[in-house]
Amino acid sequence: MSKKYGNIINGSWQSPSHDVEFESMNPANKQECLGRFVESDKNEVDEAVTAAKEASVKWAGTPAPERSRLIQEAVNVIDERKKELAELMTKEQGKPLAESLGEINKSIAESHFMIGEGYRLYGNTVPSERENTWAQTVRVPVGPVAVITPWNFPILTPLRKIIPALVTGNPVVIKPSELTPLTGLKLIEMMNEAGLPAGVLNAITGSGKTGQHLVRHPSIRAISFTGSTQTGLAINQIAAERMVRVQAEMGGKNPVVIWDPSDLQAAIQQTVSAAFLCSGQRCTAISRVLVPRSDQKLIEQGFVEALTKLQPGDGSKVQTTIGPLINEQQLNKVEGFVNRAAKEGAKILTGGRRLTDGEFQQGYFYSATLVSDVDDQMEIGREEVFGPVLCIQPVDTFEEAIRLSNHTEYGLTSAIFTKHLDLAGRFVDSVQSGMVHVNHGTTPESHMPFGGLKASGIGQGSVGHITKDFFTDTKSVYIKYS
Ligand code: NDP
Repeated sequence: MSKKYGNIINGSWQSPSHDVEFESMNPANKQECLGRFVESDKNEVDEAVTAAKEASVKWAGTPAPERSRLIQEAVNVIDERKKELAELMTKEQGKPLAESLGEINKSIAESHFMIGEGYRLYGNTVPSERENTWAQTVRVPVGPVAVITPWNFPILTPLRKIIPALVTGNPVVIKPSELTPLTGLKLIEMMNEAGLPAGVLNAITGSGKTGQHLVRHPSIRAISFTGSTQTGLAINQIAAERMVRVQAEMGGKNPVVIWDPSDLQAAIQQTVSAAFLCSGQRCTAISRVLVPRSDQKLIEQGFVEALTKLQPGDGSKVQTTIGPLINEQQLNKVEGFVNRAAKEGAKILTGGRRLTDGEFQQGYFYSATLVSDVDDQMEIGREEVFGPVLCIQPVDTFEEAIRLSNHTEYGLTSAIFTKHLDLAGRFVDSVQSGMVHVNHGTTPESHMPFGGLKASGIGQGSVGHITKDFFTDTKSVYIKYS
């Protein structure tokens, strides 16, 4: 029987007070159970939020540079133990080990920038209308923050929320995804062991129901969520009733336009990375490639060659470059999308099937898939697949490429590869996405705002300086000194 884990509240592990539990499994090996976890009920959620609330006055009163110093120590421990954390992530989430390590390194880089913000929580000094008076604004923490995260980036997404919340003086209660709870708990354990004050960082496990208890808790003053648009909407509705702010990062149907690039091979290679990292289970995954009809065949040929070089397998094997999907449900979902696309008239150029032989038997593997002749009326041209599937959409004019790029409810990220500066400029100005890249894939930088437009995001984006605005309120202060 695998180990049973409780919540982490007030800096220590809790023994579960009831038996309702769920398991976390290795998606590359269905037989391997990594642990059993508690489905936290309303009382357990209350314990965690109460711990956060009790810690909030002292944490908010701790000078921001000192908070940053304590958080830096926690991040140092993550850095020292990243190999252990990456191996666990690969077992629980499935992504190749190199990707897990890359994710942790990126989280550390983002954390470093944000920790520095502890020295830059500036307000404004404003000329007063009165004599002998100073008028100024100061930032104050908003209050205990709920962090709700999905399974695709079990370290990056939590840290993107936890670090800015803590730096700005807010204690946190996190609920990691029920599909990757162990990686989430290990992260919180390490950070607490590094010396964060008790109650400042708490973790509870459970499903969406536990998430709902957390969102509804009266002491939670802000909610930072990443996941599906549907759940983001549901959380926002509940939060609106209590006038609690929500930061939500949701899905994407991200386009890349390849239009006479200076280096077609580089454009293809970077698009393949952007599309197939984490087996395509990324909100920022490129899922549509818009190409001039005249170049379609040449570009398709390049993509087919690149996809056949991807090496599927268990992420803990060195040679693996594309791991399994997270579970059976996700596998069925991806398979359904591709099958329906074929029925609607799209062509499957490579892939398009489950991998079930030999070592693949025990996991949720789907081949890297290229679907061609997709149009905006097809389901696969509009909806987020969240799997290893890339679509080619031929167009007749550049205007059509821009129109189709925007023809989706989402607006997360986008890219264009072209040697024509005027086309790049038109694309940057017209594309409706929170992030846009010219002549490289969709990997964002560690100090730039990350977030989406339309159904991809609400509230200030995370990462970079603007995320401070989400986690703080502004207080206007008047000081009449004589
Ligand atoms: P969800 O949005 O359902 O889950 C994300 C997180 O929210 C999880 O921790 C989940 O708990 C929790 N949750 C679910 N329902 C509620 C609720 N009503 N109130 C509070 N918390 C809740 O995403 P899924 O993981 O189920 O994935 C479904 C689809 O969402 C994917 O196929 C993909 O299309 C999209 N997605 C997008 C992501 C992104 O990065 N933009 C990330 C992940 C998913 P639990 O894990 O227990 O369900």
